[in-house]
Amino acid sequence: MARYNGPVCRLCRREGMKLFLKGERCYTEKCAIEKRNMPPGQHGRARRAKMVGYGVQLREKQKVKRIYGVLEDQFRRYFEQADRTRGITGETLLQLLERRLDNAVYRLGFATSRPQARQLVRHGHFLVNGRKVDIPSYSLKAGDVVTVRESSRQNASILHAMDEVKGRGIPEWLNLEGPMGGKVMSMPTREQINLPVQEQLIVELYSK
Ligand code: SF4
Repeated sequence: MARYNGPVCRLCRREGMKLFLKGERCYTEKCAIEKRNMPPGQHGRARRAKMVGYGVQLREKQKVKRIYGVLEDQFRRYFEQADRTRGITGETLLQLLERRLDNAVYRLGFATSRPQARQLVRHGHFLVNGRKVDIPSYSLKAGDVVTVRESSRQNASILHAMDEVKGRGIPEWLNLEGPMGGKVMSMPTREQINLPVQEQLIVELYSK
């Protein structure tokens, strides 16, 4: 399935919550959810239909996929990996998504949104343990160090993001290191993955 290239605020309106896909705008009153939190389309003004069962599970999966910018096939592979891993499948699924390099770049404050972080990684602006990595889905492990490449330290988007996200906070599993780097201190726990999602519903959906 191709990557969605339409207006991203529609995705938030579909899910009825902020997915933080547009960087700074998401924190202002210009955010579409602040202005009109209703589903997109001509019937959007009608009351949001009350969902049960499959519908609720599907929406929860779509929400998580859209937050992390992952396509269906890739998302299913994450689920299958989580399912094979010892532990609580839903939590492991979120942990795998959270460990993506593009997510860590966003969480460390080098990008204002995950879509921007994915683009910056693809353009080769980051090193992992001193080696260039341009794969957004690269899975980080405890002890890894992510740094902005020397030649990218004056990149306007990265500098702007660092300025913009100051004070937003970094999750405990990450730690800023040096002027433009960060270290993975441990694997993220569910409490540290600050997302309002019910991952158990995704497990139920895929377990049918
Ligand atoms: Fe979603 Fe951000 Fe658009 Fe608000 S501004 S609707 S949070 S993408």
